[in-house]
Amino acid sequence: MKIAIIGIGTVGSAVATAVKNTGFVHEIVLFDRDGVRARAAADDLGHAASFGFDVKITAVSNYRGIRGSDIVIVAAGANQKPGETRTDLLAKNAAVISDIIPRVMANVDAKNVKIIILTNPLDVMVMLAQKLSRLAPGRVIGTGTMLDSARLRTILARHLGVSTQSINAYVLGEHGDSSVVDWTSATVGALSLDEFCRQMKISMPQTTRNTIAHRVRNAAYEIIRGRGATWDGIGAAAADLLRCIINDEHRILTVSTVSGTGADMVAMSLPRLVGAGGVVATLRPKLSAAESAALRRSGKIIRKNYDMI
Ligand code: NAD
Repeated sequence: MKIAIIGIGTVGSAVATAVKNTGFVHEIVLFDRDGVRARAAADDLGHAASFGFDVKITAVSNYRGIRGSDIVIVAAGANQKPGETRTDLLAKNAAVISDIIPRVMANVDAKNVKIIILTNPLDVMVMLAQKLSRLAPGRVIGTGTMLDSARLRTILARHLGVSTQSINAYVLGEHGDSSVVDWTSATVGALSLDEFCRQMKISMPQTTRNTIAHRVRNAAYEIIRGRGATWDGIGAAAADLLRCIINDEHRILTVSTVSGTGADMVAMSLPRLVGAGGVVATLRPKLSAAESAALRRSGKIIRKNYDMI
């Protein structure tokens, strides 16, 4: 399994580390428009790989080097500076995706390749990459709200006193400020969240839910304020998505992919079945009226931003 990572900044390097540590990949090639940076990362990661799984990691100086890649991960582009929203990156990163995708497509097997997008604003970049690549929508996949859902499960786990592994709770819609927590479908073990709280005598009023949703939406801003950027979470999310595809795991992940046609076409995160073919199916969660309205609004925001580029 050969993986190409385009954009070897903070996120691309973290993704390479996490992917290397899965043990499911025999070769990783790194491309960055800053060739010195890519070569330095390949050296450092190659030395790290000698302590673990045997993975060949090389920097390539042009797109011919990505030939033979089964999956291409795009982590290139401007990141948020403190105070910036993901949408503020729209014009800059649309230019980056428009530069990268045609070059990728000229060097991969279009019948086989899957493209994973990490660049923000994520959902709009997925739409643009899908359009430029002309691949089937389910083969251009954004990590979407995988990371937001992980943040939700982490906060909930602490509040409820259970492992994150026992919580099924999803964030849907935009990977951004209009994301929507699906409280209605949340379960803990086999119980609904409400029933779990009743049995365990845990208070979970609407104000607490609102605070948790706010913390989930704000997590990236807090991390950027404290650390300058976010990388560990997205690195792990990308490697998890990659593992799911490589092993044809058919897990349900909240990834972003294009659906709909014409004016209704949009990419956003919904619970989707992911396997070797990419996104295999999309599930429609049962939402409350307020959650449905918020999800529609989120889709409209993504579409409006896409129409601006
Ligand atoms: P960074 O500035 O550290 O690295 C970006 C890299 O992209 C640089 O090395 C740069 O040289 C390279 N690059 C830019 N344009 C390029 C091009 N046309 N071709 C090849 N390489 C190019 O930024 P970062 O912190 O690594 O963030 C990268 C992207 O990931 C940002 O858009 C950021 O918002 C996004 N991100 C997404 C998530 C998520 O959950 N999806 C999480 C964190 C960051």
